[in-house]
Amino acid sequence: MSGATHPIDAALFDPKTAASDDFYRHVNGGWLDANPIPPEYGAWGAGQMVHEHNQAILRRLLEEAAGRDDPQGSAGQKVGDYFAAAMDEAAIAAAGVRPLEPYLSRIEAAGSVDDVRELVRDLQRVGASPLHSLGVAPDFEDSEVYLVYLGQGGLGLPERDYYTRDDEQSEALRRKYVTHVARQLANLGVGESRPGEAADADEAAEGILAFETRLAEASYTAAQLRDVPLTMNRHDFAALDELMPSFGLAGYARDLGVTSPSVNVDNPGFFRALDVALAETPVETLRDYLRWHLVRTFAMSLTPAFEDEAFDFYGKALGGQQEMKPRWKRALASVSADIGELVAQLYVETAFSGQAKQRCEEMVDHLLAAMGRAIRRVDWMSDATREEALRKLDGFSYKIGYPDVWRDYSDLEVARDSFVQNRMRSEAFELARQLGRLGKPVDRTEWEMPAHIVNAYYHPLLNEIVFPAGILQPPFFYADADDAVNYGAIGAIIGHEITHGFDDEGSHFDASGQLRDWWAEADRAEFMRRAQVLVSQFDGYEVLDGLHVNGPLTLGENIADLGGLKIAHDALLDALANADPAAREPVDGFTPEQRFFFSWATVWRTNYTDEYLHLIVKSDPHSPARARVNEPLANLPAFAAAFGIGDGSPMARDADGRADIW
Ligand SMILES: [Zn+2]
Repeated sequence: MSGATHPIDAALFDPKTAASDDFYRHVNGGWLDANPIPPEYGAWGAGQMVHEHNQAILRRLLEEAAGRDDPQGSAGQKVGDYFAAAMDEAAIAAAGVRPLEPYLSRIEAAGSVDDVRELVRDLQRVGASPLHSLGVAPDFEDSEVYLVYLGQGGLGLPERDYYTRDDEQSEALRRKYVTHVARQLANLGVGESRPGEAADADEAAEGILAFETRLAEASYTAAQLRDVPLTMNRHDFAALDELMPSFGLAGYARDLGVTSPSVNVDNPGFFRALDVALAETPVETLRDYLRWHLVRTFAMSLTPAFEDEAFDFYGKALGGQQEMKPRWKRALASVSADIGELVAQLYVETAFSGQAKQRCEEMVDHLLAAMGRAIRRVDWMSDATREEALRKLDGFSYKIGYPDVWRDYSDLEVARDSFVQNRMRSEAFELARQLGRLGKPVDRTEWEMPAHIVNAYYHPLLNEIVFPAGILQPPFFYADADDAVNYGAIGAIIGHEITHGFDDEGSHFDASGQLRDWWAEADRAEFMRRAQVLVSQFDGYEVLDGLHVNGPLTLGENIADLGGLKIAHDALLDALANADPAAREPVDGFTPEQRFFFSWATVWRTNYTDEYLHLIVKSDPHSPARARVNEPLANLPAFAAAFGIGDGSPMARDADGRADIW
């Protein structure tokens, strides 16, 4: 198929930077210089621009819904009332901390670990998630049924290393964190001479940091959490009690509504350490800890004193944003997080066409075929493993645009009375919905993210790839562009998601989503050897002075970027070979292959604040944009050939240094 639109804009290039030196800068330099980060963002690029575009559409739809009087229980009523309550600054100011009072008074009265356990359970239900995380997903040993996944958690900082690093910057950030915690506790009234409480909020915050540090020290790193064999640990109820004998983890899980015979525990050592920490920590510190996690969760739905304080720490100090987003965007983010599929229903009616869906489906079919050719072509895999890999690929399913069956929210009450209470009810509804699936067959029609989100995913337990309508927008996807442009953008992203089925995580699961080692030992060893080349390349990549990409943390995404680009390029060559000869002609002097690589660089162009870069390098499994663009390309001979780049240039690794997996 060839289209009339040619959205490669050479005016956004940087002619002073050679393609052979820094392709990312070469293609994006003009754009990067002309598009500084808006003060409300920590990063600004193609993804954020599409997000803005989607938000503008949703704002109109939500305002319309809020202005109507739709029938009670309808999607319009729920979305409209939620948005209206979140926009109602006067009602939020008048309510103060009253929506939290039922929990605050129970926390104040808590005198024992038993009281604490009941509070932890009830705070889990409203989304405050102290101590641990919890989710329900297909069973890793039987993808027909659901299993509870109990995870480490309970931290106020993004992940464990924030507590354990002893460099100056980490130390300074921890001091800011303690100040922030103290200010939020003071906003709640802690320190106003309550008998039996910490003398002041500062002292309480120090106690919280000490308690969270114990949890952090027992936590896995972000990279360890990607280790499938390490984190798949089925526990029956007797085994849960062995992990936390004094807390009584089994009874706690039953109380919460876990009805399955077993649960998965990602990090058993964390729960053992948590049991000891709970027993050894003074109950007044535990009370402060629960207050803190309650206020942390709902701060952005309370008065400006809470919002500003939360923004100063999480938005500014951690995320590099200079200004808070306007109220309507915050309200939209909240309604989208809580009742996303209701919002998505409104969005897809206006923003997604049947034509877009059909073209995208054709691309997915071509990309799956290209992955099949790659699996057949690689020379490092034995025939037995190759057969299994092809069987896994045959088992792939895909979803494009939006769900065939929308989620049923009829049991959720949404009202105009209180922003915080809508959030609490939504969280309680969601946990009940998840736990309510236990004992029922796995519903393969469900989506993990709402259809208006600018993202895509591979689900290893369902062996499926999913592309929401939100990302099927320019510059990721042009319904009317020619193949070269679309294959370099959404095509490489589709390839990326397919490749996740065969990365260091996905390769542990088989065609039906079950954890099964289908690899011959020598093949697995060779796969890991090849993966290690990528680990070393990215470990060596310096983002800012002294700040390097985390090779093990980003490995799965880097395998997916390299493999996705390679199979998308192969799919493009296949499409061009079968197309009208005109499709193989240059456009504006650029060959289809050059335009394919331009398109790849374009979708990832992003300006970052330093704070945001630090945050993502420590916690995000995706590499920062420049590395995402340049590193896979430097491993691809087809890229060097398309631009006539010789070996030894920064953008062309020589044969011995190249990473090559799929
Ligand atoms: Zn990915």
